[in-house]
Amino acid sequence: SMASPALLMRVVASAYSVAEKAATIVRNVMSAGDLGIVEKAGPNDLQTKADRLVQMSICASLARKFPKVTIIGEEELPTDDVTEELIEHGHCEEILKKPCPAQYTGIKEEELVIWVDPLDGTKEYTEGLLDHVTVLIGIAYGGKAIAGVINQPYYNYEAGADAVLGRTIWGVLGMGAFGFQLTEAPAGKHIIVTTRSHSSALVNECISALNPDSVIRVGGAGNKVIQLIEGKASAYVFASPGCKKWDTCAPEAILHAVGGKLTDIRGNAFQYNKEVKHMNSAGVLATLRNYDYYASRIPNTVKQSLVP
Ligand code: AMP
Ligand code: MG
Ligand code: MG
Repeated sequence: SMASPALLMRVVASAYSVAEKAATIVRNVMSAGDLGIVEKAGPNDLQTKADRLVQMSICASLARKFPKVTIIGEEELPTDDVTEELIEHGHCEEILKKPCPAQYTGIKEEELVIWVDPLDGTKEYTEGLLDHVTVLIGIAYGGKAIAGVINQPYYNYEAGADAVLGRTIWGVLGMGAFGFQLTEAPAGKHIIVTTRSHSSALVNECISALNPDSVIRVGGAGNKVIQLIEGKASAYVFASPGCKKWDTCAPEAILHAVGGKLTDIRGNAFQYNKEVKHMNSAGVLATLRNYDYYASRIPNTVKQSLVP
């Protein structure tokens, strides 16, 4: 008989289905019309009913299946006593059928850390910029982002009634990433993608120093990494603290799975072990190609202003 699939593949297959249920919740809260907006640190740090329900759904569903895995979600909410209708029991059969990369076949539950951003791009969600929103489930082992799922609940929402709404992108280091068409950014052009709702003088100073051909300002860390892998932008540049480990874990894993690179603005790799501090204090720099070109042009003054 066939050996049972490796833990990592079972976690990714479950995270895929859990993220699809999350997307349904995100769409249902919006169509019901009551977002239940709460300010966390301030008006630029919001939480909606969708952030809350999805956090409970993802964390409780994964904790039931994988009780010894460490799960760290953005929202501070209880995971016990979650109502049954929020629990996803399914998994993606296609993912389970794929072989696990050899270096990950022996991983045990205790060794995994799952970083959950139930809704990335909350500010944009509340403003109706719906395709900026993603659901992020990142999987770390040995302090490294090794697998990730990004669901975009409103992918295609402006493409007409015939278009399939929403999509799920997933990837594993050593396997690649799936659910989208890998596309190169226009050759010889420097297109920077950055924050739309968390700008600062330093964010803009850093972008100017890169002398870009154009700048795309959109919400969400997940959405910005999608812009890189679909060839819309050549670099994601965010010279500011504010982004957290749950924002970068899944996008980093998917970007690295297709040969890209995501670091802080000083070029340091992020660590994703459970003890690590949540804030990415030294910003974000990511590209699919030509990482060194952008890294070498980040001004020293900018680097010195952002301490890891
Ligand atoms: P953005 O590119 O502005 O959409 O930010 C990417 C992620 O980092 C989102 O989850 C934001 O909520 C978070 N983030 C970035 N800057 C800040 C900030 N100044 N305060 C709170 N959250 C932030
Ligand atoms: Mg986020
Ligand atoms: Mg969030």
